[in-house]
Amino acid sequence: MIYKRSSALFAEAEKVIPGGVNSPVRAFKGVGGTPIFVKEAKGAYLYDEDGNRLIDYINSWGPMILGHAYEPVVNAVVEKAKKGTSFGMPTEIETKIAELAVSMVPNIDKIRFVNSGTEACMSAIRLARGFTGRDKIIKFAGCYHGHSDSFLIQAGSGASTFGTPNSPGVTQGTAKDTLLANYNDIKNVKALVEANKNEIACVIIEPVAGNMGCIPPKKDFLKALKELCESNNILLVFDEVMTGFRLAKGGAQELYRIDADIVCFGKVIGGGLPVGAFAARNEIMNHLAPLGPVYQAGTLSGNPLAMAAGLAMLTALNRDTDVFNRLADKTEYLHRGINKALIDNNITHTINRVGSMISVHFDEGEVYDFTTAAKGNNDTFKTFFHGMLNEGIYIAPSSFETWFLTDALSYEDLDFTITAVNKVAKSL
Ligand SMILES: *Cc1c(COP(=O)(O)O)cnc(C)c1O
Repeated sequence: MIYKRSSALFAEAEKVIPGGVNSPVRAFKGVGGTPIFVKEAKGAYLYDEDGNRLIDYINSWGPMILGHAYEPVVNAVVEKAKKGTSFGMPTEIETKIAELAVSMVPNIDKIRFVNSGTEACMSAIRLARGFTGRDKIIKFAGCYHGHSDSFLIQAGSGASTFGTPNSPGVTQGTAKDTLLANYNDIKNVKALVEANKNEIACVIIEPVAGNMGCIPPKKDFLKALKELCESNNILLVFDEVMTGFRLAKGGAQELYRIDADIVCFGKVIGGGLPVGAFAARNEIMNHLAPLGPVYQAGTLSGNPLAMAAGLAMLTALNRDTDVFNRLADKTEYLHRGINKALIDNNITHTINRVGSMISVHFDEGEVYDFTTAAKGNNDTFKTFFHGMLNEGIYIAPSSFETWFLTDALSYEDLDFTITAVNKVAKSL
C-alpha cells in the first residue's frame, strides 16, 4: 500500500505539533514507520488520505463499538449543533443520559460527567481520598488510568512499596502516595494493605486490563480484592473506561457480579465525542461539590453535543439486547481463526480475550500481569503489524494495546482478516 499523502501530512504536522500527534501512541513509535492520516470512516472501515481502505480493529480505542459514522449518533449531534454548542448552564439532556447510565450500570445512584477518561479517574481518586480522609492509593503495574500525575507510576525494581515516577514532571511527593501492586496477585495487594494500615483510600483497577494487551482477571481475583477492600474500609474503584458499555450493559461489574464503590467511564460512553464520567452510590457522590466539599468542575462538562452523542450510543446499546453476545461471538470467531493460522505456521503465541477485547502476544505461556505481558516478542509484533497493515487491516500500533471489535464487522471481514494473518504469519 502507498502512504505518500499520509507521510507528507505527517511531515507538516511534525513542524507544529510535538511528534506530529496529539496523543503519543498514534505516532507509531512502537512499530516504526509513519502514522496513517484518516480522511473518513464508515462502519468497520477507515479510509485514509491516500485512498486505502482499512478494516479497523481499534475503533478510536473503543468508542465506535457500533461502527464509524453510526447514524443515530451522527444525527443526534447534527441536530443538537444547530441549537447551540455550549451554554455553561444545565440542559435536560444531561439528566437523560445520567438516568439511562444509572439504569444500565449496577450499584450507582449518581453520575458526574467530565471530558475524558483521565479526568474521570483523577476525580474518582480525589473523591475516594475526600470520602475516606486517607491519602494513599493502590494501582496495578501495567494498568493505565489516564495521564494525571498520580497514575504515571510504574514498577521499577523493588518499587512495590513506594512508586517511582515514570514521567519527568511527576514529583516524588505525588509518587509516594501511589502504591504499586501486581495484577492478579492478591497476596501482593494484601501485603501492601497490611504495611499501610488505615492509610489507603482506594484500590483502582481495570477489572479487565486492556492497556498491557488484554488481561482477564483470574478466577475470584476481583472477589478477593472486593473482600480485602471491604474489611479494611478501602474503596474499590473500577476503571471501566474501556470495559464500560463494552463487555455488558453494566460493564465488568455486571459480567463478574462484583460491585465496585466508584466506577469510571470514558470511550464508549461518549459515542466518539470527548466524554468521561464517574459514578457511585449516593453516600459517596454526595461528597462532591456543590453538595459536598470535594471540588471538581468543568466548563465543557456535560456539553450538549457530547451528551447527544453519548445518549444516542447508550440508547442503542440498551435497546439491543443481543449486541454484546454478537460482539463476543465475532471476537471468539476471530480468536479461533487467528489461533489456527498462527499454529499452522508454527508461530509461538498466546491470545487473550474477554468479550470484544482481544490481544495477540508473541510469546508462549500465560499472560496474566505486566511482567508476562512484557515478555512478548516486539520484533515479531512489528513485522506482524506492518504485514497486516499491508493487507488492509489496522490493529493497534503497539504490542501493549488491545484490539476492540465493532459490531459493524461482518463475518466476511473476519474471514478476510484471518486469511491475512495466515499470509503474514509466513513472514514472521
Ligand atoms: C483510555 C483510558 C483512560 C484514559 O482515558 P482518556 O479519555 O484517554 O483520558 C483511562 N483508563 C483506561 C482504562 C483507559 O483505557
